[in-house]
Amino acid sequence: MYYIGIDIGGMSIKGGLVTENGELVLKQSIVTRPTANEDVIIDDIHKLICSLLENKGLHEYQLSGVGIGVPGTVDGEKGRVRFTPNINFKNTPLVEKLSARFQYKFPIRISNDANCAALGEAVWGGGGGVSDSITVTLGTGVGTGFYISGKLFEGVGGAGTEGGHIVIKTGGEKCGCGRRGCWEAYAAAPALIRQVEAAIAKNPDSVLAEIAKEEGDVTGKTVFEAVEKGCPVAAKVLKKYVSYVGDGLVNLVNIFRPKVIIMGGGVSMAGDALIKPLQRYVSLHSFASKYSPKTKIVQAKLGNDAGIMGAATLTMNK
Ligand SMILES: [Zn+2]
Repeated sequence: MYYIGIDIGGMSIKGGLVTENGELVLKQSIVTRPTANEDVIIDDIHKLICSLLENKGLHEYQLSGVGIGVPGTVDGEKGRVRFTPNINFKNTPLVEKLSARFQYKFPIRISNDANCAALGEAVWGGGGGVSDSITVTLGTGVGTGFYISGKLFEGVGGAGTEGGHIVIKTGGEKCGCGRRGCWEAYAAAPALIRQVEAAIAKNPDSVLAEIAKEEGDVTGKTVFEAVEKGCPVAAKVLKKYVSYVGDGLVNLVNIFRPKVIIMGGGVSMAGDALIKPLQRYVSLHSFASKYSPKTKIVQAKLGNDAGIMGAATLTMNK
């Protein structure tokens, strides 16, 4: 059986042909036309789907379903895109209009793009298909996606979740959302960079400062490089950062008791240097951890394909 996942982005629309076993057999992408009207964009999506089928020698009657991840708010039940900031979709009946362009009828479903990425990781990536997992992305912000009791949790109206804005320090750092002390203000990549820069200002002779000077810039990787070289200043920054990320994770663990937490986003590319101390922190601090099922912290596996894989999974009953 073949499914197609479409991942709509501000720059490109990516599509993938996926089997029921989660094998991504073909990938293609087209340029997004942000100023075009909705019918032109839906035509583009239709052509992308046809092209994927053609290139694999398939006909549309052999397609079991199409899922689409949209960067905005959607009404999944009605198949409607309410709003998306980068593309001309406003109250667009995307499912109805796309379906009308095909001769054969197959299920078409839409969801928020972050939800799709979480679904992809939960079923085919780091989650390995366990019934309860949470995907957390540490990037420009902190994103969350919940796969609970074997089902993607989409929130009322498919609005998705904003776990990055749970408060971990009342009255703390200012967050982009307007509140103070949000998890994101401590755990996102820009927050880590700020923490590293503050440590460098205080310790200008440290290995951490040297590395930043050599590279001409502080990035999400700098602290990990310095820790690897045995820098005690960097080790202290990382320990504090792990506690920030860890406190948010513990909050999620205490509410949802997931089997797995999947860490994605640029900062998580550090791999074991981040995942292992996070695992220790969560195992130590989550409620009655000694007597409760353990939550495993793992790295995301699908990278940029998570959105396509998750979208394709929307019509798979997973
Ligand atoms: Zn916030």
